[in-house]
Amino acid sequence: MQIQPKDYYEGDTFERIKQYSDKLETPCLVVDTATFARQLDELIACFPYAKTYYAIKANPAVELLKILDERGCNFDVASRYELDKVLSIGVTGDRVSYGNTIKKSKDIRYFHENGVDLFATDSEADLRNIAQAAPGARVFVRILTEGSQTADWPLSRKFGCQTDMALDLCVLARELGLIPYGISFHVGSQQRDIGAWDSAIAKVKWIFERLQEEHGIQLKMANLGGGFPANYLSRTNDLQTYAEEITRFLREDFDDNFPEIILEPGRSLVANAGVLVSEVVLISRKNRTGLHRWVYTDIGKFGGMIETMDEAIKYPVYVEKTGEVEEVVIAGPTCDSADILYENYKYELPLNLAMGDRMYWFSTGAYTTTYSAIEFNGFPPLKAYFI
Ligand SMILES: *Cc1c(COP(=O)(O)O)cnc(C)c1O
Repeated sequence: MQIQPKDYYEGDTFERIKQYSDKLETPCLVVDTATFARQLDELIACFPYAKTYYAIKANPAVELLKILDERGCNFDVASRYELDKVLSIGVTGDRVSYGNTIKKSKDIRYFHENGVDLFATDSEADLRNIAQAAPGARVFVRILTEGSQTADWPLSRKFGCQTDMALDLCVLARELGLIPYGISFHVGSQQRDIGAWDSAIAKVKWIFERLQEEHGIQLKMANLGGGFPANYLSRTNDLQTYAEEITRFLREDFDDNFPEIILEPGRSLVANAGVLVSEVVLISRKNRTGLHRWVYTDIGKFGGMIETMDEAIKYPVYVEKTGEVEEVVIAGPTCDSADILYENYKYELPLNLAMGDRMYWFSTGAYTTTYSAIEFNGFPPLKAYFI
C-alpha cells in the first residue's frame, strides 16, 4: 500500500510543491503558505471564542509569522531570540506571552522592557523572579496533565506542577504584587485522545473554584495549549471533531461563562503545509540473505528529523516509482549510528527504488527546520522555501 499525495494535500498543492522542488538541491523543505493560512483560518473558525498564540518553535519562519500577524494572532514565545524575531516584523509585546517556565531573570526583564505582560510559571523560584523582573505582570500557572500515553510527542513531566501547588503559586503571585491571571496545560503534542482535554479542563475548573472560594481570587483565563493533530501515518480525528468535543468539555465545566480561552497551536497549523524532499544516497543489504534492504537518504535525525526518535512520529513517505514493494530500513546520511529513522516500523518502498531517486516526506512543515543541526559531519542546516 503506497502513500497517495491526495490523501495528504488538497487540490494541486502537492504538484505545485513538487514542481517547485524539482530545481532544488536536496534535502530541502518546501512549505505552502496557502495551506498554512487555510489551516489557521480553519482553527480560528473552529474556536471562535479563543485567542490564538502561535507556538513559534514549530516553525519560526517570518513568512508564516506575517500571515499570523495579518490575522491579528498572538505569539507564544520561549526565548529572547524568538521574541526578537516577532518584534522584528512589527508585532508589539502586548501580543506575546512568555510561555517557557524555564527562564533567566535577565530574560524576564528583557521581555518586560519590550512590553510583554503575560508570563507562564510552574515554580516558586520562577514566580519570585517574575515578580522582581516584571513587577505587576499577569502570570498563568502551568499544571501537569495526563495523556502522555496517547500523545505521539509528550510534553509532560518536565513542565507543570500539581494542582495543589498551582493554588499556592496563585496565592503567592498576589502576595508578590503580580496578577494571578489563569491556568495553562499542554496535553502533549500530536495528542490522539481528545479526552485528555476533558480531565485537564476539569482540573482547571477545580482550581478556579478553590481560588475563588478560599482566597477570593478570580482567575480570568484558561490556556488549553497545543496538541492538535497533523496528518501522519497514524490517523487522528479531524480538527472539527477536536473543537466540538473541547467546546463541549468547556460547557460542562463553565456553562456559558467561559473564561478567556487561549490556544497555542504549533504542529497542527504548519506540519501539513510542508513537504521535505530528500534523495536516496545508497541502497544496500547487510548480508547475503538479508531480508531487508537499507535505504540511506540525505535527510536524517540530525538534518531535522529528530521526531523520528523512538520512531515517535511516522512521516508518510512518497516516491514516484510504483510496483511491487518491499519492507525496508530507512537511515540518514551521517556517521552516527543513532541516525536511523525507521527500523522497527518497516516502511514499504518499491523494489525498483534506486539511488538518486527522490523521496517526499509528507507533513514535515513542523519541528524540522528548528531541530536541524548546524554542521554535523559538515552537512548544512535544512533549507526551507516558502511558496
Ligand atoms: C510546543 C508547545 C506548544 C505547541 O504544541 P503543538 O502540539 O505543536 O501544537 C504549545 N504550547 C507550549 C507551551 C509548547 O511548549
